[in-house]
Amino acid sequence: MTRTAPLPRIVRKEKPPKMRGRDGYRKAREHLRRDFAYRCAYCMIHESEAGGEEAFWIDHFRPRSKGGSANDYTNLYWACILCNHIKGDSWPTPSEARHGRRFANPCHEQDYGFHFAENAKSELEALTRCGEYHVGTLRLNRSLLVARRRERNEYRSRLAEASNLIERLEPQRDAASVGRAPVQNEVIDHVHHEIDSLRAELAIAIPFIPSLQGQ
Ligand SMILES: [Zn+2]
Repeated sequence: MTRTAPLPRIVRKEKPPKMRGRDGYRKAREHLRRDFAYRCAYCMIHESEAGGEEAFWIDHFRPRSKGGSANDYTNLYWACILCNHIKGDSWPTPSEARHGRRFANPCHEQDYGFHFAENAKSELEALTRCGEYHVGTLRLNRSLLVARRRERNEYRSRLAEASNLIERLEPQRDAASVGRAPVQNEVIDHVHHEIDSLRAELAIAIPFIPSLQGQ
């Protein structure tokens, strides 16, 4: 049986604007924000968790100084300023590239879960040489990111607990609705509220992508 390669994490849908000149690529800002779902291409942090859109910038996946095109939409990535700054002009040397040491390209392949995956300490662990280069060069285990992933894991387990609780409590709602158990009714409403707020937190948290290795 043949295995199909996992789909890229990011699939662009925007029609890019016409871009010319040295700073022409800046016209693509809004297109990129939508295509990257308001998240950093590399660390996946959401704009609203990283200081807003001012804390993001357009990254040239292949740096211009390393032969990357300035105004080719497919070379433009939406990235938080930290990833952008850390990545800088990094690009594998031909010898590194021959040994598989390169950036994972989220628009061409599945990066999270395939080239690297999250371990029990909420750190990213490389699964391939590409993952090693990518996680190491971009410093994707910087403390802020690990803390944010940990926080998200707490939300996930609290959501699972609250969902279990509601499954047990909901059948009792009929009794509550006819006034026999108003306290029960209040508890149910409270848990529903908790579930809604956890879902809202998780919608902007760094997504959890399980490992695809061994599938
Ligand atoms: Zn980032």
